[in-house]
Amino acid sequence: MSDKRDKYEVVIGLEVHAQMLTKSKAYSNDINEYGAVPNTNVSVVSLGHPGTLPVMNKKTIENAIKLGLALNCDITENQYFARKNYFYPDLPKGYQITQDTTPICTGGYVIVNDEDGVEKKIGLTRIHMEEDAGKSIHDIDVKDTLVDLNRAGVPLVEIVSEPDLRSSTEAYNYLMEMRKLVRYLEICDGNMEEGSLRCDANISVRLKGASEFGTKVEVKNMNSMRNVQRAIEFEIGRQIDVLENGGTLEQQSRQYDALKNVTHAMRSKEAANDYRYFPEPDLQPLKVTKDQIESVKAEMPALPRELFLKYTKELGLSEYDAYILTDNKSIALYYEELIKHTNLFKLAANWMMGDIKSYLNSQGKEISEFPLSPVRIAKLITLINDGKISSSIASQKIFPAMLENTDKDPLSIAESLNLIQDSNEDSILGFIDEVKKQHPTEVERYKNGEKQLIGFLMGQLMKISKGKADPKTANQILRNELEK
Ligand code: ADP
Ligand code: MG
Repeated sequence: MSDKRDKYEVVIGLEVHAQMLTKSKAYSNDINEYGAVPNTNVSVVSLGHPGTLPVMNKKTIENAIKLGLALNCDITENQYFARKNYFYPDLPKGYQITQDTTPICTGGYVIVNDEDGVEKKIGLTRIHMEEDAGKSIHDIDVKDTLVDLNRAGVPLVEIVSEPDLRSSTEAYNYLMEMRKLVRYLEICDGNMEEGSLRCDANISVRLKGASEFGTKVEVKNMNSMRNVQRAIEFEIGRQIDVLENGGTLEQQSRQYDALKNVTHAMRSKEAANDYRYFPEPDLQPLKVTKDQIESVKAEMPALPRELFLKYTKELGLSEYDAYILTDNKSIALYYEELIKHTNLFKLAANWMMGDIKSYLNSQGKEISEFPLSPVRIAKLITLINDGKISSSIASQKIFPAMLENTDKDPLSIAESLNLIQDSNEDSILGFIDEVKKQHPTEVERYKNGEKQLIGFLMGQLMKISKGKADPKTANQILRNELEK
C-alpha cells in the first residue's frame, strides 16, 4: 500500500461552518442557544411565514469582519444577500439566506504546520455569512425522522480554503488553528461535538508531478477533528485503490461513518442540487465602511499567532513552550499578566506549564478559577531567582501553602515556615566547620586529590544546614575553603 501511495499527491480543501455566538438568530430575535427544548426558539420569521421579514443581526457582520481581519482577508465593501433554494424538511422557508457572489471576506490565509512541523500558508478563497438550517433527527424515534427547528436561522460563517492542504495532518492542524482563532475572537465556541464548528473535506489525489487536480470527493458528517483526519485517510486510500485498479473516480458527496471508519456515497454531481441563487429581495444591500472596519480593528484582542511570535522572537521561549502557552486564550492572558510583573520569562513559562497546570489538572479547574494572582506567582519566581528559596522548596512547600493562604505573600510564607535559603557567608562557613569536624577523613582525601568527593561534602553541608544553605553560594565557599 505505501508504495502505491508514494506515487500520489493528496490535495485537500476544507469548508468550515462556524456558528456565531450571538444572543439572537441571524435575521430574527429568536434566541440562539444550543440544547434548548426542541422547537421552542422558533418564531414566524424562522418559519418563513408569509408576510414576515428578516432583519439583519449586526453582531454577525461585526464577527465576520473580525474573523476576516484576523485571517488577513480583504473585506468586501458592497455586498448583498442571496437566496439558496432547496426543499428539505428542516428548512421551513424553502431557502437559506446566504451570500453568493459577494462574500464578506475574500483572500487571506492561515499559517499551519505541515507533517514535519514546518510552517506553510494555506490560502482562503472566501468567508461568507449565512443562516443554519434546522436539524433532522434520525436516531431518537425508530420509525420517524424528527425535526428540531431551534437551529433554523442561527447565524453562520462559512470559511472556504483553497485546495492548498497536502495531508490529513495538515487538515487537522488547519482545523486546530481555526478553532483556536474563533475562540480567541470569542465569535464561536468551536465545539465540534455539538456542531457549532463543522467541516466538509474536499479530497482528491493525483500522480506526483501531474499539473491538473484529480476528481474531488466531498466528505461530510465528521463530528470531531480526529474524525476529519480519519475520514480523509480512509478516502485517500479508497481513491488510490480505485485508480490503481484501473477505475475512475466520480465527483460526489460522501458521508463518513465513524463507527466503521468508512465513507459512503451520498449523491453524485449529476444529482447535485441546483440552488437557483438570486438576490434576497427582503434585505437591503450591505455596505461596510472604512470606519466600521477601523472600529472592529480597534477592539481586536491579542491573537494566538502574534503572541506565539512575541514569545519565540522577543521572549526567547522555545516554539514548544510558545505553542502550549498560546493554545488556550485564558492561559495566554494569565501569562501576559504574569510577564508584566517579572521578566523571568522562561521561569514564568515553566511555572505555568508545570506546577500551575498540574494543580489545575488535579483539581479539574480552568485557569479562570486559579486562586493565585499573577502578581503573587511573579513574586514567588523572583524569590527563586534571587536564591532566597530553592525551586524544590518553592514547588513542594511554598506553592501549596500559598494555595491554602491565598492572601499571604510567598515571602512571608517562606519566612514563617523558616524556609528562606541561607546565603550568608558567616553561617555557611559555620556549616563548613561542622562538615570538617564530622568528616575529617573525606576532607583530607579531597585535599590529596580525590576531587570527586566535593559531591559528598556538599551533600553533608546541605544536610547540616537542613536544606537551607543556598547551594550556589555554599558550593563556591566550600571549594574555596577546601583549596586553602
Ligand atoms: P464546488 O463548486 O463543488 O462547491 P468549489 O470550487 O466551491 O467546489 O470548492 C469547494 C472546496 O473544494 C474548496 O475548499 C476547494 O479548495 C476545494 N477543492 C476544489 N477542487 C479540489 C480538488 N480537485 N481537490 C481537493 N479539493 C478541491
Ligand atoms: Mg462550494
